[in-house]
Amino acid sequence: MLKRYLLAPGPTQVPPEVLLAMATPIIHHRAPEFAELFGEVRKDLQWVFQTNNDVLMLASSGTGAMEGSVANFLSPGDKALCVNGGKFGERWGKICQAFGVQPIEIPVEWGHSVDPQQVADALKKDPSIKAVYVQASETSTGAAHDIKALADIVKPYEGTILVVDAITALGVFDIPTDAWGLDIVVAGSQKAFMLPPGLAFVSVSQKAWGLAEKSKNGAFYFNFKKERDSQRKNQTAYTPAVSMILGLKEVLRLMKTEGLPGMFARQGQLAHALRSAVEAAGLSLFPKGKASDALTVIAAPDGIDGQAVYKNLRVQYGITAAGGQDHLKGKIFRLSHMGYVDTFDVITAMAAVEMVLKGLGHPIQLGSGVAKAQALLMTPQ
Ligand SMILES: *Cc1c(COP(=O)(O)O)cnc(C)c1O
Repeated sequence: MLKRYLLAPGPTQVPPEVLLAMATPIIHHRAPEFAELFGEVRKDLQWVFQTNNDVLMLASSGTGAMEGSVANFLSPGDKALCVNGGKFGERWGKICQAFGVQPIEIPVEWGHSVDPQQVADALKKDPSIKAVYVQASETSTGAAHDIKALADIVKPYEGTILVVDAITALGVFDIPTDAWGLDIVVAGSQKAFMLPPGLAFVSVSQKAWGLAEKSKNGAFYFNFKKERDSQRKNQTAYTPAVSMILGLKEVLRLMKTEGLPGMFARQGQLAHALRSAVEAAGLSLFPKGKASDALTVIAAPDGIDGQAVYKNLRVQYGITAAGGQDHLKGKIFRLSHMGYVDTFDVITAMAAVEMVLKGLGHPIQLGSGVAKAQALLMTPQ
């Protein structure tokens, strides 16, 4: 028997209470019970997003909300600045192209964080740019971008919005939507939200709604204005993912019990412990800029194939992690600690990495990283 451990940067583990909530009988989405449920989760989502803006809920993976964040606000021929520091940054550019929007890419070496000055310079050079698209946490490399600095740069441009893909950031570290003035923030269910894949969330500011009034792009299913008008009445335009929303209600209850500061502290502590453990075991972290607390990205040691590490974790020890993508394939492997994760997930991950690397012939001292994680995660007496 091989017991399974899900430590991939999405989908992530789902708490048993949430699985049970999703197993309860379906309620009809036009019945009053649904409107009551929907009103409650909408209010609590605003709490997680730290906003008074509309937070729309969509039946899609995260990319659906990313697509809608282009289609509903920009028009063909518009220009958008896309921070491209990895697989997900690259996606912003591709979505723009699909809607006739001209992406001006700011290439960032994978693993690095964008230099906010580059965004400032680009906007100064061309103030007609309608939107700046960025990731708060670039999951393909483990790097975080400085969203607060970017928000301060974009804010004075009245015709420009800042759109933040916070899919592996919201619920992991502090991204206060209103305090920082973020126009659009996107999140997804299967990452820090501890739910199965299938729901996306997106907050939209007044400034962004103003841009939506002028957009000439067509959107039908992901029509944010239509959703806004329905969702403000606690209805969705089309059939919602009712069971997922029942699960979301339970997730939000768990989140409120822990509180935002408690959640950020736990996630930060786990990330710090695993990063320190990796270094104590003589391994190198991949991110060169600020590391995201959602996941730990480890550079494969010289002579070791990162894909073999990822594969052996799964085949030998039942641990689903992730490898690298594109030119990072074989060079890195990734372990998530976002969402429903605690001390022993991190210790399990570290122990297995040591065992796999030793098995592959890398000179690593068993227990060297684990001991560091244990020391850092011990409950204070
Ligand atoms: C997972 C993820 C997405 C969305 O991917 P989906 O497969 O559509 O849910 C987008 N951005 C980042 C940073 C992600 O980690």
